[in-house]
Amino acid sequence: MQINISNLSEGAHTYELSEDSRILELDNQFQGIAVAQVTLEKSINQIVATVHASCKGVFVCDRCGREYDDLVTARFTSVYAWEEGEENNDDDFYILQPDDNIIDISDSVAEYLTLAIPLKLLCNKSDCEIPNYSTEEDDMIDPRWEKLQKLLKTRE
Ligand SMILES: [Zn+2]
Repeated sequence: MQINISNLSEGAHTYELSEDSRILELDNQFQGIAVAQVTLEKSINQIVATVHASCKGVFVCDRCGREYDDLVTARFTSVYAWEEGEENNDDDFYILQPDDNIIDISDSVAEYLTLAIPLKLLCNKSDCEIPNYSTEEDDMIDPRWEKLQKLLKTRE
């Protein structure tokens, strides 16, 4: 996911980049092609890249245990400057060398998409329920446990 910035005029430029999730070395939960919509805003001493990335993910639902797919999306801003400017901790800041003419957002896209995977994975299907396993086994006392219980009782 590279953008050629040589001879880029000042102002806003938009791009749509895509890359196979495997080439981006995304986790196996991601499948297919990751897409990034990028707006570059070039001023005299820096380029601000606003990126909206998305990729399909296949997850296992935490509640019902079934597989489902969902679109993972992430939005981030990276600042590329030819000089070290004022520290701006809100954005990712990169220093460009005078002869740098390529911006590569692959690593950032992979990182932000990975961070965007929800902590709680829920399929949101209408029939999503915790599987109702038979509880019969729970009612039966393990023979080893029974022995131990007897042992404890005799000690009392
Ligand atoms: Zn579910």
